[in-house]
Amino acid sequence: MAVVVQKYGGSSVATLEKIKAVASKISKRREKGDKVVVVVSAMGDTTDSLINMANSLNTNPDKRELDMLISTGEQVSISLMSMALQNEGCESVSLTGMQAGIQTKGFHSKARIEDIDLTNLKNHLSEDKVVVVAGFQGVNNNGDITTLGRGGSDTTAVALAAKLDCDCEIYTDVDGIYTVDPRLFPTARKLKSICYEEMLEMASLGAGVMETRSVEIAQKYGVKVYVALNTGEWEGTYIKESDNTMESKAITGLSLSDKDLMVTIDNVRYDIQNISYIFNELASKDINIDMISQTAPAGGHVSLSFTAPKTDEKIILDILENVEKKIGNINVEIEKDITKLSVVGIGMRSQSGVAAKVFDILARNNIQFKQVTTSEIRISYTIDTKDRQRALEAVANEFNL
Ligand code: ASP
Ligand code: MG
Repeated sequence: MAVVVQKYGGSSVATLEKIKAVASKISKRREKGDKVVVVVSAMGDTTDSLINMANSLNTNPDKRELDMLISTGEQVSISLMSMALQNEGCESVSLTGMQAGIQTKGFHSKARIEDIDLTNLKNHLSEDKVVVVAGFQGVNNNGDITTLGRGGSDTTAVALAAKLDCDCEIYTDVDGIYTVDPRLFPTARKLKSICYEEMLEMASLGAGVMETRSVEIAQKYGVKVYVALNTGEWEGTYIKESDNTMESKAITGLSLSDKDLMVTIDNVRYDIQNISYIFNELASKDINIDMISQTAPAGGHVSLSFTAPKTDEKIILDILENVEKKIGNINVEIEKDITKLSVVGIGMRSQSGVAAKVFDILARNNIQFKQVTTSEIRISYTIDTKDRQRALEAVANEFNL
């Protein structure tokens, strides 16, 4: 008899009807003889509404109290799910994060799971109950309720599967992982499988159906994850170790992000002290810099460009104003209409010429790029947002995505 962890996100349990439908699906699965641990998120937009309530009472709500509040969303859905299961004639019990033994450490609102004491959960499983666990929450050393960061129910599910040494199924409102977001490229293919490294890159590029940290845990403990539509129609996608078939193609997926802006600083006196000073000032204010490029020195000066989140524009300008006071006259220009196009594939490790092929595609389509960065399995290009759709179609078509 196999044990399986199934996770249902907020949209899958948004209404009582949906909870009923999920409960009936779970009870059929149990009838097949599997032992099921179910992790659920809060219903629909509950977490957002709770956060809004907190913010309207207090502009800077205490993080401990906020965790106490937002963890209640999941408590509502576990109890309702358990009742719906019982109504199906399926024995079940709901457990909060604390009751499920989920011990966390670190800050409120972004705690990490340190360990899971499975004693209680296993006792219930051995009594043949479906165990419904609240996602997104745990308890710290002080006995306070903590939450794991937005989207953290994925982490709860994968961590439970790691500890139980079983597979994890994530049911959501998309039916799997695609080579390209099908809303942007309708002929995109659904992947049968994708390896952890590729999924991590895709998740951190914002194409992630799953929360990034949960993929890290899956990779670390070798948990096989299956992502599929919550109704169970259609085959989903497996996230697992890489195999030969994955390595044979150069590119597995393509993703676009419009979240960053590009800052160009002209007239920087060419001196490593200056350059390091600029980036240290940005780092000290926690500005998350992604791509960096620098022109060759001309007349003792260089021009530096980097990308950073659009949401940090104001603070970047403030920092650079102060930098100017220290290192002398510079010109700062901000471009907001830029897009990051990334191609990801484990095959790049062993195949050469992928970057050259993309350069060639962009050149033939007369698409200028401003920056390029590469990692072992990813190449990203900064392009003008106006070229975004053309670039996506050209690259996706040529690589048969
Ligand atoms: N309910 C939490 C959130 O909205 C956790 C989750 O959905 O995974 O972020
Ligand atoms: Mg989610």
